[in-house]
Amino acid sequence: MEKICFGIDVGGTTVKMGIFTTEAKLVDSWEIPTRKEDEGSHILEDICNEIDKKLVEKKISREDLLGVGIGIPGPITKDGTVLNCVNLGWGVFNVEEKFSQMLGGVKVKAGNDANVAALGENWQGGGIGFEDLILITLGTGVGGGVIIGDKIITGSNGAAGEIGHMPVVYDEDAEVCGCGKKGCLETVGSATGIVREAKKLLANTDIPTPLRDNSDFTCKDIFDAAKEGDKAAMIVVDKLAEYLGIAAAHIAAVTNPQVIVIGGGVSKAGKFLLDKIEEKYMEKAFKACRNAKFALATLGNDAGMYGAAALILC
Ligand SMILES: [Zn+2]
Repeated sequence: MEKICFGIDVGGTTVKMGIFTTEAKLVDSWEIPTRKEDEGSHILEDICNEIDKKLVEKKISREDLLGVGIGIPGPITKDGTVLNCVNLGWGVFNVEEKFSQMLGGVKVKAGNDANVAALGENWQGGGIGFEDLILITLGTGVGGGVIIGDKIITGSNGAAGEIGHMPVVYDEDAEVCGCGKKGCLETVGSATGIVREAKKLLANTDIPTPLRDNSDFTCKDIFDAAKEGDKAAMIVVDKLAEYLGIAAAHIAAVTNPQVIVIGGGVSKAGKFLLDKIEEKYMEKAFKACRNAKFALATLGNDAGMYGAAALILC
């Protein structure tokens, strides 16, 4: 029997689970709900039961199970210690040790979900073939990760790669971020942030735009209008690209990546957005860092599962 591993991405509402071969082939994937009641104490138990069930169903022996990789939506140190994961109700404990015990001694490796997603894109996604990568994920929030030499940069208390909280807006009236700080990339680069910036522009100018016809316009509407050459939408997208270019230039000055991968729902804007970010990056980045390539993420919501498997297989 072929050797396999599990790649598991624990989210606030669902746990995504995948079985991978050593050739990086995803042979099965499914989801279970995340039971957050009782301080999230059932979550690992539920995953453990699923793994046992799947091993029996697929007739996989324990000897052929190389390990279980797991992405957690909170800070986690290099040795696998979760430091208060509020998304799951977890306190401080070593998730690798605990989960390994529950699984009868199977190897367990854990990481922060956003960092693990970056590792997934590095291993099998938009950054395949490169060992030094930055992932910037633009979704309901802004996240990401830094991979150097095919390894996640974790930092001293698991907070490395928190790209969304990089300060990029320095105005007095900058928006306050969910983290309590003013002017984070997340306040202008998330889908809601982009819409808010567009609404501000419409309120403060009288530029004619079809966006004014629909008070509930979305981030996608803004990109669609910009692609049609709409002036107001172009201003919003150019400003967004500038913030992202600046953020990428800051990170690059420290990490000198080979590739900068853009993911998340907002990245569905595609090459149109990518090219604009790259253009701004080239203006802002340190000369020796300008050979970085720009790529779109390709794994979508599966990036976390892939990255979790890579924690075991790579
Ligand atoms: Zn913040």
